[in-house]
Amino acid sequence: MHPFTLSRASTAAMAISAHAQDPALAFIAGGTDLLGLMKDRAQLPERLLDINGLPDMARVETLSDGRLRIGALAHMSDVAVHPEVRRVPVLAEALLFSASGQLRNMATIGGNILQRTRCAYFRDGDRPPCNKRQPGSGCAARHGINRSHAIFGWSEACVATHASDLAVALAALDASVIVHGRSGERSIPFSAFHHLPEATPERDTVLERGDLVAALEVPVREDQRASHYLKLRDRQSYEFALVSAAAAVAMDGRRIRSARLALGGVAHKPWRLETAETALRQASLDDVEVLKRAIATSFTEAKPLAHNAFKVELAQRVALRALQTAGGRA
Ligand code: SF4
Repeated sequence: MHPFTLSRASTAAMAISAHAQDPALAFIAGGTDLLGLMKDRAQLPERLLDINGLPDMARVETLSDGRLRIGALAHMSDVAVHPEVRRVPVLAEALLFSASGQLRNMATIGGNILQRTRCAYFRDGDRPPCNKRQPGSGCAARHGINRSHAIFGWSEACVATHASDLAVALAALDASVIVHGRSGERSIPFSAFHHLPEATPERDTVLERGDLVAALEVPVREDQRASHYLKLRDRQSYEFALVSAAAAVAMDGRRIRSARLALGGVAHKPWRLETAETALRQASLDDVEVLKRAIATSFTEAKPLAHNAFKVELAQRVALRALQTAGGRA
């Protein structure tokens, strides 16, 4: 194991200042992803700053305007069973289908959305070419084994997918990430939080040095209860998504008034199906062929790799089933 020092932050201001000044310092909370990355030598911080003791960052609460605020240090298992979160099935389901019970007890919400790709080349201790780990070294997955990789939004520099289930649900719900940084607090729309790889796959998010994720906020929407997260994976439990879908719909009887759909396991970030969302307006939930055609409108831009063409069809089926289940809950 790479040697490192460990200290504790007592205030957010101290944590932000330390992180801004020291490029070799990383925050640690649950550590469920970071310690694995360090063992795999994919990330080698020299100093870890434990932020678990920061005050007021583990609460789940409903704000006076109805928004749901989830503190970044709240544990996944606690959030999944919180009564306010259970009112939004897509959130609770995304959490409960993640990882294992033991990991959910340790892992935090902030760490979950910041987790790094599961691309096997990125985490391979033998260090094959990987632009995300070592910029400029190449991408072993582009012409290697890429069955689990992206079909949307990839670049020649990187074809990795994002691993978080929760992030897919948050994207569908138009959530925001609340960040505390050197110039105060800012709110980042979830759709703008993660990067596509383009020429800089080493950058997963828009965060800068000195930025601390404080909370997630989920806006009030009438369709939160009519929502669902569906995850397909190679084995039934303790596995990352091959493809997943988050759906939230508002219905007029059996007709869709509005739908929001996001996919996981298909891109470097949660992938919203905006064209399909438009095409689904006024569609009947009972007219499966119309629903399929509407969903297909978002797949004209899909670009499968050598080993993952099956994802194009699979993702459409997963989106359809998630939509039907969500609509059935209205
Ligand atoms: Fe690295 Fe991305 Fe290529 Fe995987 S897909 S090897 S993470 S550059």
